[in-house]
Amino acid sequence: MMNKSRHPPLGQPPRISRSPVRSSTLGPGYSVANSNTRILGPQGGTATLSSAVPPAASANLGLNSDRLRTQMVRRLREQGISDDRVLAAMQAVARHDFVDQGLASRAYEDAALPIGYGQTISQPWVVAYMLAVMAQDRTPQRVLEIGAGCGYQSAVLAQFVPEVYAVERIRGLYDQARLNLSHGRARGRVRLSFGDGMRGLEHRAPFDGIVVAAAGVKIPEVLLHQLAVGARLIAPEGAAHQRLILFERTGPASWHRVELEDVRFVPLRPGTQA
Ligand code: SAH
Repeated sequence: MMNKSRHPPLGQPPRISRSPVRSSTLGPGYSVANSNTRILGPQGGTATLSSAVPPAASANLGLNSDRLRTQMVRRLREQGISDDRVLAAMQAVARHDFVDQGLASRAYEDAALPIGYGQTISQPWVVAYMLAVMAQDRTPQRVLEIGAGCGYQSAVLAQFVPEVYAVERIRGLYDQARLNLSHGRARGRVRLSFGDGMRGLEHRAPFDGIVVAAAGVKIPEVLLHQLAVGARLIAPEGAAHQRLILFERTGPASWHRVELEDVRFVPLRPGTQA
């Protein structure tokens, strides 16, 4: 039985406010960097560069990054993220270590950034929101991320979830993520694999949470079957118009579906890319 509704009736609705906060746009020509972001109405749209540091300061980013992350976390709170586990994790993980050096000075803007291969590191708000919704009112022990990219979101997850599995389908990004996750706060904490995440990770299922970082026209049903009863999956769905969808498994053969924010993500693709 698939139960559909537009409003959150999952016992406890996601306690996430929808304050009209601006999202970053980088102007024309940056369509990739605008992926894995929230889409806001006409009131949004102009760049928020409040925490950007000028390029000259980027050499000192290592020293400044704690302060920049504090600003990022404060902004996330203002944007309605209230889960302290998620906020502490985002304070802990050095996002600038997950992007190219040339972009490091922009790592704490509320923007997605290119990571190569036509993919992006998700906007901080998107990362925080997805993790907060997935983990709301529960303490997940084992979580699967589909679409590891450069590994940032799985590094954040690993700060408060003991067993994190992540799958990436592009070999170059898988290598990048493996390197990024081999040091720093996430060292040795994420079990990363190269493969097609549309099939999930059957031999490790069931999961207490699944987070999908790329948009399928339909969310693959096999993933819903890899959720433990009571667990949640959050994923973007759609083509031209995408929305974040939350599924909660309510029984062996029943799921509850809720539609959340409008977003734009890179596509979920089958198979692997060498
Ligand atoms: N989680 C990342 C976001 C990466 S962008 C972050 O921390 O910011 C989404 C990623 O999903 C891309 O790297 C893309 O290659 C990957 N992807 C798309 N389809 C996939 C699939 N079927 N299996 C695994 N990864 C997939």
